[in-house]
Amino acid sequence: MTDYRNLIGGKLVPAADGRTLDSVNPATGEVWARIPASAKPDADAAVQAARKAFPAWSAMPALGRAHFLRKVAEVFAAHADELARLETRDNGRILRDTLRKDLPGMTYLWQLAAGQVLDAVKGDTVILGPDAMGFTRREPYGVAVCIIPWNSPISTFSAKAAYALAAGNTVIVKPAEQASASVLRLGELLADVFPPGVLNIVSGLGEEVGDALVRHSGVNKISLTGSTETGLAITRVAGIKPMTFELGGKSPNIVFPDADLDKAAEGVTVNSVFTGNAGQVCVAGSRILIHRSVWDEMLARITAVSEGIILSDPLDMNTTMGPIVSAGQYERVKSFLEIAEKEGAERVFGGATGAEVVPSMPGGYWVAPTLYATTDNALRICQEEIFGPVAVAIPFETDDEALAISNDSAYGLAAGLWTRDLGRAHRFVRDLQSGTVWVNTFRQMPPGLPFGGVKDSGYGHDAVLEYTREKAAIIQT
Ligand code: NAD
Repeated sequence: MTDYRNLIGGKLVPAADGRTLDSVNPATGEVWARIPASAKPDADAAVQAARKAFPAWSAMPALGRAHFLRKVAEVFAAHADELARLETRDNGRILRDTLRKDLPGMTYLWQLAAGQVLDAVKGDTVILGPDAMGFTRREPYGVAVCIIPWNSPISTFSAKAAYALAAGNTVIVKPAEQASASVLRLGELLADVFPPGVLNIVSGLGEEVGDALVRHSGVNKISLTGSTETGLAITRVAGIKPMTFELGGKSPNIVFPDADLDKAAEGVTVNSVFTGNAGQVCVAGSRILIHRSVWDEMLARITAVSEGIILSDPLDMNTTMGPIVSAGQYERVKSFLEIAEKEGAERVFGGATGAEVVPSMPGGYWVAPTLYATTDNALRICQEEIFGPVAVAIPFETDDEALAISNDSAYGLAAGLWTRDLGRAHRFVRDLQSGTVWVNTFRQMPPGLPFGGVKDSGYGHDAVLEYTREKAAIIQT
């Protein structure tokens, strides 16, 4: 059993009242660690520490801050194996992804953020006349609270904290209660890297410590990656604080008959909704739109590709799909399997859960890749985010129909299309109501391009300028 602690004011501390939450390995169902169940006193202490650290951190020349960010990149590189295994154990994200993609990617992201510190102090100059000029001054907000979900804790931690710190804010990170271990371990590794209070990490329940943080009058900026419901809950209590919201999705992935169907079959399954985090991916292409002329052929190809998915111990490098993160999320995904059957959707394959899927790990939260088919985009399984390896295939006849079905969603996070027609690609890029559009690829999120949503999928991007505000100055001589 491992006990983790919060990082507040440079010190590793338990929750003020000593309470803890269990952390469960979702592949076995066993408790393996305890994390602080923090509450309002811990939130208050973290805000106080972050406020105290803000004047010196924000006054530091930007290149000085870059020096600290590069040190974080070194910590990621030196502890990549440990952190990847920890995260896989804690949330079930397969080691193939945490070790090969996430950790190298995060080393690079912190280096990139170090290279972007000057953007946070650049402004505009406007000559207003022979003896007057205006200019803008970019300033950090102050204390930034970064709330992250459980599906990729290290990556989401980095995407927020690196840019918020680069811009000169002090930061409080609130990891998700289902999977906080890798972020709390990072707190141990980074405790001596930053001056005390510059980076703070506080774990616990969203409705407890999360709520206390977002309400706090000493907090100046909020960035949430999570569900639309949580985004709404925060707007109700946080007052007029600037917010970045990266929320849920129900992304369409559209296959046209002129596409390379081999690539499309991979692109709508293993690169989209079935592997990665067992479909617990905000951008999962959970609605697969298929042109009627290739409907049967695509369903056969999708079935064949999906049969090759290896569900097993996520720590095994041969495994290509892991479990659902928690008992609560497992129940939610299973309830959608029932909803799909009740709604009359046709099951193309899948539907198995638990020990039936991975007999060698009977306590794990397993759901087999599952595909339903329907012509009715109004069904709940087409409109609601399931956040698991459950997709629905929907046929279409014309481009207009594909567009209408795609945009008939409260969400607008991402979309994919598979076509060789460049004109069609440009039209869809223009007309899809979506934060990102991928053409002949899916789930590529390179740093340097913005990532965010429209409609109920949120607004704003985790990038360095998002963590600054502009002040205008006019000087008359
Ligand atoms: P969630 O909204 O339940 O929790 C996210 C975080 O918010 C957790 O740390 C939680 O403790 C905290 N939280 C919950 N209630 C809160 C409150 N009232 N005040 C303050 N904080 C609160 O989401 P989840 O179940 O952890 O993650 C899944 C969701 O996240 C899905 O909807 C998914 O699409 C979304 N997501 C989005 C992106 C993206 O970049 N758009 C990436 C990953 C996940």
